[in-house]
Amino acid sequence: MIRKIWVLLFIPVLLSILMLPAFAAEAAPEEDHWICLLCGSEADGSVCPVCSSVRGVWRCHSCRERNLSGACRSCGKQRDDSLQEQAFCGDAMYAFPAVRYLAAQGHGDALCALAGYYEKGLILPRDPEAALACTLRACETEYAPAWLMAGKIYDRGELAERDEFKAMECFLKAAESGIPEAFWYLGVFYEEGFAVTRDTAKAMEYYRLAGEAGDADSWMSIAACYALGKGVERDFTEALAYYEKAAESGSHLACDYLGYQYMSGELVEQDTEKGLDYYRKAAELGNSRSMMALAYAWMTGQGVDPDPGEAARWYELAALAGRADAAEMLAQLQH
Ligand SMILES: [Zn+2]
Ligand SMILES: [Zn+2]
Repeated sequence: MIRKIWVLLFIPVLLSILMLPAFAAEAAPEEDHWICLLCGSEADGSVCPVCSSVRGVWRCHSCRERNLSGACRSCGKQRDDSLQEQAFCGDAMYAFPAVRYLAAQGHGDALCALAGYYEKGLILPRDPEAALACTLRACETEYAPAWLMAGKIYDRGELAERDEFKAMECFLKAAESGIPEAFWYLGVFYEEGFAVTRDTAKAMEYYRLAGEAGDADSWMSIAACYALGKGVERDFTEALAYYEKAAESGSHLACDYLGYQYMSGELVEQDTEKGLDYYRKAAELGNSRSMMALAYAWMTGQGVDPDPGEAARWYELAALAGRADAAEMLAQLQH
């Protein structure tokens, strides 16, 4: 408890130090400095230097009409609603002007989204420092998921130097707001002894909190503790119960794992019907490894009558989910 209080007191100080470059990188726009709402470029003067649009022109997200006032002259949609919808529509290229504009206005969710553009080098040049700066600025806006993002940045050590202590502080802040994944990270930190003394019992407590808060994969972490006898007595029956709990809660990883176990009969009694069911569930949840396994089962007749057409269908889905090996298998099948 004392440690936690110390950490909480320390965070504002830490942030004020960390944030210095942030304000320089993504400062709120000054009066004569603006973000073009049509192309996302930074502009001075009255006309965008890239797309020549006049300052303040925006495109309605609903009807695509170009407007200058606060409401769409064609469908009546409010400008702020339109920008919000555009920024989080899922199409990164199209969303960019709205994201950059809202980020400059200090919206935490948009700042986090903008960090993603800097991280990937999408539209903007790749800039790890700016990505971190945007994320830390988002932390200041009470947008709690930003703390989770910042924690991940410090934990991964790709955009900034790896720092377990800063990561831990960020995950604690995110957990205070009840973000399920943050509890999972705290569990990992206690299990691995990152920034804290290793404590498997505490790790399992955090995994449980994460699972109860809706992070389905966290039940898998508890399952793994039982399977490996980490901090608890090794107990595969208990492990299996947690893998099943994870699968029921919607963890595609758990479904894929159980699919493999029932197909192979490695740790449970072989049951191909059950195995294929789990693979199907995992595939429906987007697990490309399970799609590959299903394709293989249909190709070789594992628990089903061989069906090259069905195999090809699963290889195609796996390829669409980003698996290059699936595209190769599909090409072979079609020869
Ligand atoms: Zn422009
Ligand atoms: Zn409209």
